[in-house]
Amino acid sequence: MSLTSQNGRTYLPHTLIEIISPRLPCARPRHFLFDFDGTISLIREGWQQLMIELMLEFLLATPEAEDEQTLTRMISDLVLHSTGRPTLDQMTFLADEVAQRGGLRHDPHMYKRLFLDRLLARVNERLTALRRGQFEPADLVVPGVLELLAELKRRKIICHLASGTEKEAVLEEITALGLADYFEDRIYGPQDGGPVFSKKVVIEGILETYGLAGCELVSCGDGKVEIEYTAQVGGIGVGVASNEVERQGINEIKRQQLILAGANLIIPDFREGEVLVSYLMGEDEAK
Ligand SMILES: [Mg+2]
Repeated sequence: MSLTSQNGRTYLPHTLIEIISPRLPCARPRHFLFDFDGTISLIREGWQQLMIELMLEFLLATPEAEDEQTLTRMISDLVLHSTGRPTLDQMTFLADEVAQRGGLRHDPHMYKRLFLDRLLARVNERLTALRRGQFEPADLVVPGVLELLAELKRRKIICHLASGTEKEAVLEEITALGLADYFEDRIYGPQDGGPVFSKKVVIEGILETYGLAGCELVSCGDGKVEIEYTAQVGGIGVGVASNEVERQGINEIKRQQLILAGANLIIPDFREGEVLVSYLMGEDEAK
């Protein structure tokens, strides 16, 4: 297969599908695992900014706080690196950082509640608009994902969904987008009072339940967590470096993170989903 090179990056010909390391030789992938926020859904677009603002608010108020600029940089980094992990983990980081600066360490659940209250106000506005028909599902998803899911279904590939967001909220949002049927009972996320959730466990569970070799699993995500765990089991990581605001082009920070995590491919979105799938299935090799 011929690849094209541009600015030191290598692409599948005539596409924006960037090859970081070629697909592993193996049987055809039979299962796809999707992250939710930023990979499929844009309903929570802007959550990182809300989390950064909340953390900044509490850290600035501590006795030994650094200046705002230093803190913003540290927090942005922390949020970026922990994307894909449960919210409670991120709020535990916050509690620890507050304590380290001589502040009163609140229960991470308190920070989480506050964050979710702010986020949910925004999410609910978008969900209401979606249900009233003021928004189409296509307006609130990463471009091309609706067509990609239909194509995977046509090929009888089994799709799974795993999110660091509470499972109940993911179910509500995927249903509002009209995409729940693609995943049936294969939606995973943290649940109040449930066991500790991690995408690592989800990935291991899928391989075990379906008797898959690592390379039969394709994982699509915009966060490093899912890509890292997928790489660890020998799976194929498709890094979705989505620009959630513009809904086109690459988010360079996400791209860097995803490559470091071990992504095999980087895509801006799923607009070229059909080419992507046929590449992953090894269908272009004869050409
Ligand atoms: Mg995500």
